[in-house]
Amino acid sequence: MKITDIKTRLLHTPVESALLNKTKSRAFMEIILLEIQTDEGITGHGYTYTDGFGGPAIKTLLDTDIRALIVGRDPMDVKAMVAYVLWELRQAGFAGITVLGTAAMDLALWDIYSQAVHLPIGKILGQYRDKVPMYASVAGWIGLPMEEMVARARELVVDQGMLGIKIQVGRAPIEIDQKRLSMLRDALGAEAKLFVDANTILDVPTAIRLGKAIQDYDIFWLEEPIPLRDTDGHAQISQHIDIPLATGENFFGIRDCDEYIRRRLVSYMQADVIRVGGITEWMRIAALADAHGMRMSPHFVMEMTTEVQCCVQNSLFVEYIPWFQQYFVDPIHTEGGFAYARQKPGLGLAFKESVIAQYAVD
Ligand SMILES: [Mg+2]
Repeated sequence: MKITDIKTRLLHTPVESALLNKTKSRAFMEIILLEIQTDEGITGHGYTYTDGFGGPAIKTLLDTDIRALIVGRDPMDVKAMVAYVLWELRQAGFAGITVLGTAAMDLALWDIYSQAVHLPIGKILGQYRDKVPMYASVAGWIGLPMEEMVARARELVVDQGMLGIKIQVGRAPIEIDQKRLSMLRDALGAEAKLFVDANTILDVPTAIRLGKAIQDYDIFWLEEPIPLRDTDGHAQISQHIDIPLATGENFFGIRDCDEYIRRRLVSYMQADVIRVGGITEWMRIAALADAHGMRMSPHFVMEMTTEVQCCVQNSLFVEYIPWFQQYFVDPIHTEGGFAYARQKPGLGLAFKESVIAQYAVD
């Protein structure tokens, strides 16, 4: 099989208002769609995303350099293709737009592979389980009024069966974060899991002070407490608080994850399937984490997270943020608090034509 051509589209999709100006500065997320065509009639679909910046550069990288590198090659050589493209693009950098562009290609190649061998992606990667429990982040945005937070949390945990709720912390006085956690504990009961996420905005002393102030609410993890370059700071926080740490959503590949895993600077690794460059790189990270006794609980993109989490032994949860689900022709199945692996060939990443027509900006 040979790749004959590629097509890309850039979309701007709306961001929930409770995040705007608090954790995101742009009212839209960028999604870059990639279609890879082959001489055997199989078309692969992949995508990548940003929080609002870099999309035009990623689209250009795909349309020019990545297109030049992959047309005429065999799409079934997925790992060789990914390694080749990343190496050839080394002067464009080993993170950011290079990796995000390569991620779209990686997903589209696995999509072609899965269709070509008529097997679901889980059966190719070696499925370990067919469903993964979900926790929800969509009740915990810092901009949500407390009553709205509790109402959403009840709906997600009590009605839909999710494991628990993650809330953003560290932006308000500690008493306010305590109040929000106390309301959630009262509303959801002792069984529900509570997670907190500081999105890297704290410093070490503040993270320790916050951690001590909220640890009695039985917090499952504290996510991204401080800037990522401060690896020793993570070790320091862990020594002082009784809450496990989690991080990884802003890592661009195994090299960023490596020190955190080897030194056990956090308890849970949250590498995002797209931000690390796709399924190929994510599976390497999961294997490294497994070798060090660390479990994976990836960030966002539940349509991809579910597939890879079903294929590793050291998987923990899927993060329920269903923003992109409504855009796919064939979204993943969720029921009773679980996300299910696909049962048919292909990754199911084709976007609805109506969505493309509504949000395309190119
Ligand atoms: Mg986070």
